[in-house]
Amino acid sequence: MQLHIYNTLTRQKELFVPLMDDPKYTGPKKDFVGFYSCWPTVYSMPHFGNVRASFTADLIRNVLKNIMGYKTISMTNFTDVWHLRGDSDDGEEKMEKAAKKEWMTARDLAKKYEKIFRDFFKWLQIDDFDIMPRATEHIAEQIDLVKKLEAKWYTYIIPGDGVYMDTSKIDDYGKLLWPNYKKHLEGIQAGERIDLWWKKNITDFALWKFHVGEGKRDMERESPRGVWFPGRHAECSAMSSKYLWNQFDIHHGGYDLIPIHHTNEIAQSECAFDVHPRVKYRMHHQFVNMNGKKMSKSEGNIVSPYEVLEKWYDYLDIRYFFFTTHYRSFFDFTRSSMNAAKHARENLIKKMQKIFDPHVKVIMDRDIILPYEKFKEGITSKYVWDALEDMMAALMDDLNTPQLMAILNQSLNSVDKMEEVDKKELFVVLYRLEKNLLKVWLFDWIGQEIKEIKIPSKIIQLADKRLQAKKDKDFTLSDELRNKIISLGREINDTKNGYEITKI
Ligand SMILES: [Zn+2]
Repeated sequence: MQLHIYNTLTRQKELFVPLMDDPKYTGPKKDFVGFYSCWPTVYSMPHFGNVRASFTADLIRNVLKNIMGYKTISMTNFTDVWHLRGDSDDGEEKMEKAAKKEWMTARDLAKKYEKIFRDFFKWLQIDDFDIMPRATEHIAEQIDLVKKLEAKWYTYIIPGDGVYMDTSKIDDYGKLLWPNYKKHLEGIQAGERIDLWWKKNITDFALWKFHVGEGKRDMERESPRGVWFPGRHAECSAMSSKYLWNQFDIHHGGYDLIPIHHTNEIAQSECAFDVHPRVKYRMHHQFVNMNGKKMSKSEGNIVSPYEVLEKWYDYLDIRYFFFTTHYRSFFDFTRSSMNAAKHARENLIKKMQKIFDPHVKVIMDRDIILPYEKFKEGITSKYVWDALEDMMAALMDDLNTPQLMAILNQSLNSVDKMEEVDKKELFVVLYRLEKNLLKVWLFDWIGQEIKEIKIPSKIIQLADKRLQAKKDKDFTLSDELRNKIISLGREINDTKNGYEITKI
């Protein structure tokens, strides 16, 4: 079984050959596949972009580890250090602004939202990654990165502002965007008047930003150059190198990170660590749309995952929905497509009941993770063998999950006419696929009554307060209380006579 993935760096689908098996790799000997995914700044509630990022990272990790059977080290970061608007070097500091709004320090704000993010992803059946570091706990590594670049004369100082990377010294700067990016940029710089804000080149970026103005800001740190903020891109370079080494296999993130964050992450890492390429495969997932338009504040069409859940959808419906869209296609969120995903999952669960075998389940639960190359050896049914081969071919073709879901559904269409042996083996195949990759609970509810849930008194108190806030038309408070209830693992929905609480 061979995995092909689209590499943004080369702009084509490539056979995945990990560095440890690559004859061209000359670095220190590796025995693992290193995977890094750029995760969010923890200063507000998760939005759909965050959910898609985490879902895609989970998909890639699960395919490498559970399906391909590689020994992997996977990591994602929590950005809990300074962040200006977007990925640029100017503007207002987002974390500090949000912290002031909530009457807490930036550190406490980061802790609060990291917990909410972790809970949210847990409900989406996204297991923890091997390493989930915080930027604030890796300040020494970031200082070290900048020192390396200074020692190699890649930097310059703008007094009263910061230490900047001189991108004119990097021949292939911007290669993630397109091959002759620098030539294109030189054209722009020569032909137009551009305000460089004291920078030497339009693409130069901050590695350190000095303390400016009166008073101390929450996220500033001491460094050999005085009080400073690390640059936006420093943490990903420093932390991934610490845990995955200077050269590793896959770096993942959203398309929006390509022009600035990932471009600069590559530039500073390749110069500091002298590795080319820094990462062998660069994978990016596409934006989330709402009714065909990019979800954004300026379009006024942002829907939060919490709002979606409020409409009686389940976390697992959202997860299922993600599987039905290829990660490199726009994920178009509409009410009707969400409904379709919900019904498709319900139908699939009903079909699964026809092949469910509790005895086989008990045996399989003992050894649930078994790479597909190994466990398919036991399949004797041609029907099941063909279905499995087709599903894996789809997955190996740049993680074509919509195609995989279509084949999975098809494989159950003629279940009524199947021989017992076919049914049993189909169950074995689909059960493993569910447990190792899908995790949309296709089997877990079968044969079980949904028991009445005892609601903790703390949650009832919050729900009563929320009801009162709604009566008082204080919708900000009522939203806050709802989020609090969600963060405690319960869903609240309004009814004629008050509210109803269910378990998430
Ligand atoms: Zn990053």
